[in-house]
This record gives sequence, structure tokens and C-alpha cells, in this order.
Amino acid sequence: MQKYFTTPIYYVNDVPHIGHAYCTLATDTLARYWRQRLGAENVWFLTGTDENSQKTVDAAAKAGQPIEAYLDEMAAQWRAAWDDIGISYDDFIRTTEDRHLAIVHELFQTIFDKGDIYKGTYKGLYCTGCEAFKTEQELDEHGHCPAHKRVPDQLEEDNYFFRLSAYEDKLLAFYQQNPNWLQPESRRNEIVSFIKSGLQDVSVSRETAEFGISLPMDPQHKVYVWFDALINYYSAIKNTDQESFWGHVEHIIGKDITRFHCVIWPAMLMSAGVSLPQGAFGHGFFTIDGTKMSKSLGNVVSPVEVSERFGSDGLRAGLLSSFEFGNDGDFSMSQLEDFYNSKLAGGVGNLFNRVIVLLHKFMDGTAPETNRCEDAKQLEAKFDALIEGKKLKGAYDFFFATVDVANQRLNETEVWKLAKVDREAATEIFTELYGYLEFLTHMAETLLPESAPKMKAMLGGDGKVGEAEILFLRQ
Ligand SMILES: [Zn+2]
Repeated sequence: MQKYFTTPIYYVNDVPHIGHAYCTLATDTLARYWRQRLGAENVWFLTGTDENSQKTVDAAAKAGQPIEAYLDEMAAQWRAAWDDIGISYDDFIRTTEDRHLAIVHELFQTIFDKGDIYKGTYKGLYCTGCEAFKTEQELDEHGHCPAHKRVPDQLEEDNYFFRLSAYEDKLLAFYQQNPNWLQPESRRNEIVSFIKSGLQDVSVSRETAEFGISLPMDPQHKVYVWFDALINYYSAIKNTDQESFWGHVEHIIGKDITRFHCVIWPAMLMSAGVSLPQGAFGHGFFTIDGTKMSKSLGNVVSPVEVSERFGSDGLRAGLLSSFEFGNDGDFSMSQLEDFYNSKLAGGVGNLFNRVIVLLHKFMDGTAPETNRCEDAKQLEAKFDALIEGKKLKGAYDFFFATVDVANQRLNETEVWKLAKVDREAATEIFTELYGYLEFLTHMAETLLPESAPKMKAMLGGDGKVGEAEILFLRQ
């Protein structure tokens, strides 16, 4: 079995915020779990940057930089941010790379030759903020794009169109045959009713775009940024040693971009004769202290700064355990601080430290026989089911509930007293506690990957436990 996970590729007109980090950390969690199960060679994890956008042209102009230099600098910043917060991507694609351009041309030409791309005139609205064509119905009562609070541009230009309308029935049949393809179910229902409401052909080129990939059959026109961006998942592995991963790809996306990924993208692939992805998951959005994050409100949170203070595990566990993956939720720094101190420093950190200290003190540092806690198999099956069902909050809750059970066993058995009077009975308790530490370390490879190696070191080897360490310093 193989697994291939993708995040959306992100616009580089700004640095990453915690919302981007949320999606990327969730995908990273899935990739880490499956690497542990299937072996690293059977998992591929792709992220990257979406660079052929008018937004980047504007941002470069604002920064007073040539576009290429600006893109190089910003792409490097995104990469560095993901490195800082412990994202284990296998590949990072930039849509200005030649490897991407070549496949975009190939796919565009194939769809064109099939007769699914034709030339026409687009007359209507376009929001550069969304990089999307808009209908009147999509605007708010002031005639503004609801996301960007401004009037979209009036556009009239020659465009190439993709015959999306021809794929209505095929898409509906696909969703009927693959009811679990798009998760969670609420997103699937939205998309199915959107398709049922009737699909219109979509513009796939821009005549006036300053920057982007030229059409193979008409170089005066640029490929519409979304049409090119979606292809990254395929172009990153096509004609490489990783090509076989295509049959196992799952897209992790935000709920705002499900129409692109779950209507247009499958139709493009059907037209091009390329097999469809294995699935897509559209996660929810979260507010910060009950308010939508925005630059103008000044409440944009930098994941790198959070990670510097709480460690990348603090950021990861705090975010992913705040609300269930797929739902909407809220996040706050005070909540993170409480979580960090109670669950990480006071919970798992304290447990590991106490047990290892006691083993040194009473058992000469001897590691108990490897004998995972009693119902280890059942516990492990429960954890697997949670992650495989993408219940990421559920998995963290289960992890911390296990910490609580182990801490409770430690307190109620008072093994430090028992060890002085009945070494045999104490050994039994220590074996049980050590089993919990082993199971927690196993889960931590997925959930707390920065701390997992330190936990492993504490468990020790060759019959001896390691040194007791502080996993999480109280804040
Ligand atoms: Zn907009």
C-alpha cells in the first residue's frame, strides 16, 4: 500500500499564518502516521507555493522587487517556516518551476485536443483577491466580494473556456459510486447539490494577465492561475520515480476551495484521461478569540512565533486538539498556554519524568521487560481507527486520556512506597507504567514528533532506562 498526501499550494504574497499552518500540520500528522505504518518509502507528502498569480505581481511591485527575486525570497520563507515548525514534506513544488510548466502544457493541450477547451468572450466580474470569476449572486449587499470587501473588477476579454457543463452527469455518477470520496459528509453534500444545480463552463485563461504560464496554442494568453495550480499535485510526480503515488493521492484542503478541488479538478482529469484522486478532505476554519483573523484587525498569528515559544509540538498539539478536524472552531493563545502547562508540561512531561526518576531511584535504572500495557493491542487499534478516520482531535484526546490513566496508576499504587517494602510487587507496577510510556512514545511519533525522540531516549535500551529529562518547560 502507498499513500500520497497533498496540502493546497499557498499564495506567496504574504508569509504563512496559523491557518496555513493548521492545514499543513494536519497533513503532516497523517503523513507521519502512515510512514510509521507503511514505511517511509511508501508515503509521499507534497506542499508548495502558488506563484502565477496577479497577487504576487502586485506584492512584488509593492515590495519594489523584480518578480523573480520576490518569488524566490518568498518561496524560501515558506519553506523555512515549514522547516521551523517541523513539517516533514517530501517535496516542495513551486508553480514557476519548469517541471510544472511542462505538465501544465501537456494537460492543457490534451484537454484542448479533446474539444473540451474552446475560445470565447468572458464578460463579467473578477476578484483579484480570490483570483476567481464572480457572479452577482456571490456578492454581498454592497456589491463587494464577501471575502475581500471590495468591488470586483469588470472584465471583458477573450478567454478560453473549459467545457465543465459536459461533466455534470459524469461527476454526479462519480459521487454516487464513491460516496466517501469527499469528507466530511457535509462538504460532500454541498458539492453534490452544487453540481445538481447545473454546471457552467469556466474560463481557464486570462488575456490581460501580466504573469503566468502561456497557453501552448496561443502564447498571448496565460493559463488561469487556478487551472494551473490544481495541476501541481500531478506535475510534482509525473515522469519521476514517484509517479506510482498518483494512484494513491488524497488532497487535504480548506472548505473554501472544495469547488475547485472537487468539481473542476476531477472534471479536468476525466477530460485528460487521468485517473482521479483517492479522496479529498475539506477542513473547517477557526477564529482567534472568537474573531476572524485579519490583517486590519492585527490579530494574525504567526505559527513560527508560537512554535518558538511553545515548541513545534506545543503549536501542533494545541492547534489540532482545539476542535475536530473537519469542523469549525476557535483558537486562542490563553487557551494554548493552559493546554501547554496542563497537558504537555504537567501531563505527559511530568509522567515521563517521574517514572524514569523512580526507576533510577528504586530499580537501579533497570528498564522493565518490554511488555506494553495490558490491553496494548486494543489501545493501539483505537488510536489507529482515530487517525485513519482523520479524527485528529480525537487522537490527541485519546493520547492525553492515556496519560491521565498512567498518572492515576502511578499515584494510586504509590509505587515509591511499595518499592521499599515489596520489590516484586513494585516491579510489576513499574512494568505496567513503562508499558504506558512505550505506548505513548509510539503515538507521539505521530502526534508529538519533536518530543518522540526524547521520549525514546528516556525509555533507554539494553535493559537500562535513559536519563530523566524535562520534555516541556512550564511557561
Ligand atoms: Zn475576493
